[in-house]
Amino acid sequence: MITFDGVTKRYPDGTVAVDQLDLEIPAGRTTVLVGPSGCGKTTSLRMINRMVEPNSGQIRVDGRDVREQDPAELRRSIGYVIQQAGLFPHRTVADNIATVPYLLGWDRRRARRRSQELMELVGLDPDQAGRYPHQLSGGQQQRVGVARALAADPPVLLMDEPFSAVDPVVRASLQDELLRLQQELHKTIVFVTHDIDEAVKIGDTIAVFRPGGRLAQAAAPERLLAE
Ligand code: ADP
Ligand code: ADP
Repeated sequence: MITFDGVTKRYPDGTVAVDQLDLEIPAGRTTVLVGPSGCGKTTSLRMINRMVEPNSGQIRVDGRDVREQDPAELRRSIGYVIQQAGLFPHRTVADNIATVPYLLGWDRRRARRRSQELMELVGLDPDQAGRYPHQLSGGQQQRVGVARALAADPPVLLMDEPFSAVDPVVRASLQDELLRLQQELHKTIVFVTHDIDEAVKIGDTIAVFRPGGRLAQAAAPERLLAE
């Protein structure tokens, strides 16, 4: 479980991106942060892995204050997927996926085997292991991004608009794949989107943000739709 307790983030220019956020994100489920652009979703996500530090309040992952953890270690132990995959252009698909295993010092054979497993898991053809990111479609690049984030089997996966840059058909199939994967893996997923339909489709819990970085409400999609 991830908890935000009275978390506020004010950027140096005075912008209050997140204002007194209290939120409980259950383990093993998908929680979607939704709301219009600029309402603090990305900032909230990045405070979980300490890419952004709050000004006040506390964030805990499995009961441990994130400030007690080394930021580099925290980032290796939490998967992170962004909109344009952010793959290393001069590394092959297999090496991109094995980024964290290599950082953790796994031997090449084990890292390779893990890459193969993950390619299968996210629906990539094994022939693509030796390709470079520019040789893949946008949808395939996102699959590599998801595989890379899962490589060391982190319990938590942060996803920031991961499917927003691909066309609607590919997007729908990536959403379906994520639902299927999550049934198997039960990760604690925190997923940012501005698309309410996407939120309803993939979220077990939906946290609705409003301008000014405030949380309007957090509830199961059925409850939100009923209101
Ligand atoms: P969202 O993900 O909902 O679009 P963000 O968390 O990216 O929202 O941004 C929340 C607010 O913080 C916005 O007003 C944005 O312009 C501002 N902001 C984001 N990053 C920075 C930054 N590095 N410096 C100053 N303001 C920022
Ligand atoms: P998608 O339906 O996932 O968006 P595309 O229609 O973009 O896929 O691509 C179809 C196929 O063409 C994919 O298997 C992809 O690997 C291949 N492909 C796309 N761009 C390139 C490229 N620049 N070089 C080699 N193969 C490519």
